[in-house]
Amino acid sequence: MWFRRDLRLQDNTALFQALRQNERVFGVFILDDAILKARDMGAARAAFLFRSLAVLSAEFDKLGGQLILRRGGPPERELRALAAETGASALFFNTDYTPYSTECDERVTAAMDALGVDVNAFDDALLVPPQGVVDPRDGRPFQTFTPFKRVWETQERVGKRLDTKPFTAHFKTEARLPSVPVPAVEDYGLTLTQNIFPAGEAAGQESLSGFVAGGLDRYADNRDNTADGGSTSVLSVHLKFGTLSVRDCWREAVRLGGRGAAKWQDELAWRDFFNTLLWHHPSMLKKAIQPALAALRFDQNDEYWESWKTGTTGYPYVDAGMRQMLATGWMHNRTRQVVASFLVKDLLLDWRLGAEFYMQELVDGDWAANYGGWQWTAGTAPDPNGNYRVFNPVAQQRRYDPNLTYCRRWIPELDTRDYPRPIVDHASASAEFIRRFQKAYGPRRER
Ligand SMILES: Cc1cc2nc3c(=O)[nH]c(=O)nc-3n(C[C@H](O)[C@H](O)[C@H](O)COP(=O)(O)OP(=O)(O)OC[C@H]3O[C@@H](n4cnc5c(N)ncnc54)[C@H](O)[C@@H]3O)c2cc1C
Repeated sequence: MWFRRDLRLQDNTALFQALRQNERVFGVFILDDAILKARDMGAARAAFLFRSLAVLSAEFDKLGGQLILRRGGPPERELRALAAETGASALFFNTDYTPYSTECDERVTAAMDALGVDVNAFDDALLVPPQGVVDPRDGRPFQTFTPFKRVWETQERVGKRLDTKPFTAHFKTEARLPSVPVPAVEDYGLTLTQNIFPAGEAAGQESLSGFVAGGLDRYADNRDNTADGGSTSVLSVHLKFGTLSVRDCWREAVRLGGRGAAKWQDELAWRDFFNTLLWHHPSMLKKAIQPALAALRFDQNDEYWESWKTGTTGYPYVDAGMRQMLATGWMHNRTRQVVASFLVKDLLLDWRLGAEFYMQELVDGDWAANYGGWQWTAGTAPDPNGNYRVFNPVAQQRRYDPNLTYCRRWIPELDTRDYPRPIVDHASASAEFIRRFQKAYGPRRER
């Protein structure tokens, strides 16, 4: 069983099938240099991954099995070697949908085919796999959420939880195969400065139960309340690494029912939407989804860039969001939007710079959700209501953090002279952005 972004034993489709169909199952995780040494890798994300691997490996040990770690890559090379060492007859894994992973799956499948190893790939990471959610009229992928969701809903079929417990004897092995230790972030030249969430499957389940007991029913009305640390589930990192099954989230929402749960289910659908969008548009990691907006002109300004990155723009709501991320690796969705909008529409800097910085700092940094979120906020994606939308950072704070509770939590010097004055004037900076946007995109139009 090749683990990837599914670092759990329960309700794991490929693992369940591997255990059900085979007498003896080894786990393997490949510490792939192409991902771990990439520019956009950050300490928070790497640390969460390594800690989750340590938890998973300990679970294997308890069951008398082994999670084999191999370092380097590419995955097809490591898996080819391992197939020879184990004499494995089959490889099981859950498909991943990013451009890199899709290519990787193809190479692994070809390598296993050549060795006569049976390949068993499953859809697991999303509620509905991306291939099928297309416009039934012309078979084309959707570019906007509402029509996507209409078709997506008809395909959502979350079934019973897949319980691996009856099969855990199949993990047992006498043989121990060569395996590298779980690395430290320093092994990859990274330094962890953030206080990140507890990792591993049990932590994911605990966070889900906590949210279902204490926040889900209020979610529809409270989700933008940045002052309240429990306004959203804070499960994104568990969903990113699969230390929690998205189907467990869905089943809990269905069980609880009501407005809060329904709104939350919508967010899980957005997660599928962005993954599906990336699957159909791999170039969205580099280019504006709307071709006209490739011509949008940005500035270069090191001073602005530094102020944005360090949370010292003089706009408290922007700075509080940034500092929350710098301290914890997680930022509230409301401020993720305001901070991103500020970079593009107030500082006139390229959204790609910001997207890469988020990837480096976020513990839940995810190519689909992050680049989707950035393109939507920058106005470079097809958005029926929002291309011209500019977040006013002051109005946003008044609305979503009226007592400055969130701002004061993350900016201790807010009420002192040490806190900087605003580095730009919002009204004139955003007017300049709109001018440039109009030039690239044409006048505001109804779609
Ligand atoms: C500029 C920008 C960048 C973002 N980068 C990321 C990222 O790298 N990784 C990431 O997981 N999310 C990202 N998001 C989406 C969203 O902000 C986070 O998923 C959310 O804040 C996580 O908090 P939560 O778990 O409490 O979410 P909840 O509100 O409890 O939602 C439940 C789950 O639904 C999913 N979800 C919620 N909103 C979105 C959304 N807009 N898009 C996709 N999935 C969503 C997440 O998996 C989340 O855990 C980004 C949003 C923006 C605007």
